[in-house]
Amino acid sequence: MSEQKFDIVVLGGGSGGYAAALRAVQLGFTVGLVEKGKLGGTCLHRGCIPTKALLHSAEVADVSRESSKYGVNTTFEGIDIQAVTAYRQGIVASKFKGLQGLIKARGITVIEGEGRLISPTTVQVGDDTIVGKNVILATGSYSRSLPGLELGGRVITSEQALELDFIPKKVAVLGGGVIGVEFASVWKSFGAEVTVIEALPHLVPNEEESISKQLERAFRKRGIDYKLGIRFQGVTQDEKGVVVTLENGDTVEAELLLVAVGRGAATAGLGFEEVGITVDRGFVITNERLATNVPGVYAVGDIVPGLQLAHRSFQQGIFVAEELAGLNPVLVEDVNIPKVTYCDPEIASVGYTEAKAANKFGADQVTSYEYSLGGNGKSSILGTTGSVKVVRVKDGPVVGVHMIGGRVGELIGEGQLIVNWEAYPEEIAPLIHAHPTQNEALGEAFLALAGKPLHAM
Ligand SMILES: Cc1cc2nc3c(=O)[nH]c(=O)nc-3n(C[C@H](O)[C@H](O)[C@H](O)COP(=O)(O)OP(=O)(O)OC[C@H]3O[C@@H](n4cnc5c(N)ncnc54)[C@H](O)[C@@H]3O)c2cc1C
Repeated sequence: MSEQKFDIVVLGGGSGGYAAALRAVQLGFTVGLVEKGKLGGTCLHRGCIPTKALLHSAEVADVSRESSKYGVNTTFEGIDIQAVTAYRQGIVASKFKGLQGLIKARGITVIEGEGRLISPTTVQVGDDTIVGKNVILATGSYSRSLPGLELGGRVITSEQALELDFIPKKVAVLGGGVIGVEFASVWKSFGAEVTVIEALPHLVPNEEESISKQLERAFRKRGIDYKLGIRFQGVTQDEKGVVVTLENGDTVEAELLLVAVGRGAATAGLGFEEVGITVDRGFVITNERLATNVPGVYAVGDIVPGLQLAHRSFQQGIFVAEELAGLNPVLVEDVNIPKVTYCDPEIASVGYTEAKAANKFGADQVTSYEYSLGGNGKSSILGTTGSVKVVRVKDGPVVGVHMIGGRVGELIGEGQLIVNWEAYPEEIAPLIHAHPTQNEALGEAFLALAGKPLHAM
């Protein structure tokens, strides 16, 4: 039994926790970082990084299938899933090694084991107590299911989907949000028949409606089936496969059912409520500066209600470390956090959709412009279509940027600067986008919003 003392104890070494630890030591604090699994958490081991490696393999498969379109003759011979796995694992392993090295080099003490909060200043790990003047909770999230929907066997979550050592011939995906459409996209590129089931009227329902509709058209063209606006009723499974029943009696037969209906906060049994922290449906409730109701205890990342994204977790981790150092860091509202969905075609957005902007600022106070990637040289060269939609307040700043098309995720950096700096289209219009780039599509959209379209009407 031992006691270790630090300025700050961080519970959970995923994106939020390790970012908090890295920034805190930079600011002169001593930090104990408690992690029961692997540093890097969901994002590095089961989320962002491995799924994007899979999506890259999928893209390479599609490019090789279509290469003759570009005058390059190749033969697509199929997917070697063991080699895909080795590539994916290699990327994760190298990033993991880098992260471990960084944490060590910065002088953060990592305490391995499962931690439990036993007082506002103390985390228990086995027989040891880890004490901090402040505690930052960052225990992350897990794949949720629906009431009555049992996970197991052929009913899998993204964790198992990632580790499959075969390519299913036919898959059903429950949930047309980010994780669902990303796996649907991968499996289709790998040769599977895919059906996505979504209870809301559109795929990626949190995105601008016109973008969702373009994704649906693109998926239809790719042969990805989907059933929208219909609820799941039940699933049975046997040694051959699953039969998914929908509320209208329709059925979908497949080899596997991926359940991608959202992620719950991983807080059960960790002592938070016993210490007096307000928890709502598993999520830790904080004020806007990420302080819980118990003085000295903060929370960051997926356990805090809102967007569950790695870069939000990084930002929140940095924010709390700076808050504790008295630096009065700047808040970024969830609406101004960029979001990317890495299916084919990609989707990227930041700020308000047109409907939400109309709601907030008044329908007659909002205008928008949608520029088709059909007019963008680089997109045509890459063989992609799609659009860039920008939303502004009349005589005011840009409040939303919404894009769909190959590689548009790489354009959202500009979009998030514009929205967060509250730039006016008139201020952006004179600035220059290199030609030929996909960034020019953003430039064209802002020129049009500023009343002087160049390659558009
Ligand atoms: C399939 C998938 C794809 C994704 N793709 C993207 C993407 O492309 N881009 C993006 O931005 N986000 C993506 N995400 C979301 C992203 O992974 C999360 O938002 C992010 O990991 C949240 O960080 P976190 O620090 O809150 O939690 P986590 O990363 O979940 O880390 C929590 C850590 O706490 C540890 N822990 C939990 N309880 C304890 C305990 N009691 N004691 C000690 N340690 C504990 C866990 O082991 C874990 O390491 C994806 C998620 C999934 C599932």
